[in-house]
Amino acid sequence: MAATFHRTEEFTLLHRSGYLAGPVGDEDAGRVHGWEYRGDRWSANRPADGDPPEQITVACSVCSEPIAFRVRSVAATRTLRAALRWGAAASAVVAVLAIVLTGTAVGIADEAARSAEEQEAVFMVALGVVLVAASLTTAWTLALKAQAQVGVSGGGAGAATLAKHVVGRVGD
Ligand SMILES: [Zn+2]
Repeated sequence: MAATFHRTEEFTLLHRSGYLAGPVGDEDAGRVHGWEYRGDRWSANRPADGDPPEQITVACSVCSEPIAFRVRSVAATRTLRAALRWGAAASAVVAVLAIVLTGTAVGIADEAARSAEEQEAVFMVALGVVLVAASLTTAWTLALKAQAQVGVSGGGAGAATLAKHVVGRVGD
């Protein structure tokens, strides 16, 4: 799980070229559809730890669009990944607390909501459900972002969601 970053790395720049109705890839015949990404490899030297990100422009091999990237140092990449992981963990803790809160409120709200306390509990259940959904989504998104984070930003790189251009590391 712990990724190792190097000063000189080989990245991929993939362009989303279309939605495929058929099998994606040769070894992936089990999948019936998906987005097709095509692209090329590029390599970059990360700046020394403590130095600002390196500005690098890479032309997409599919659409020829020049994309400006900022390549972070090894230390900055590790710090960013750790920050995203902490954010994901914190959101997961909020989710657990919200589940406990909702569970407690459900117990009170169970009977017909007549008293003020019961009506409040009904409100707390609704609030708790929203909070659980929101914090779980946040935790999941941040965890995916941490996983996708290779210390390159710009042009949609590092996005956990479907982007036109996706940057990854060769071998990741
Ligand atoms: Zn492109």
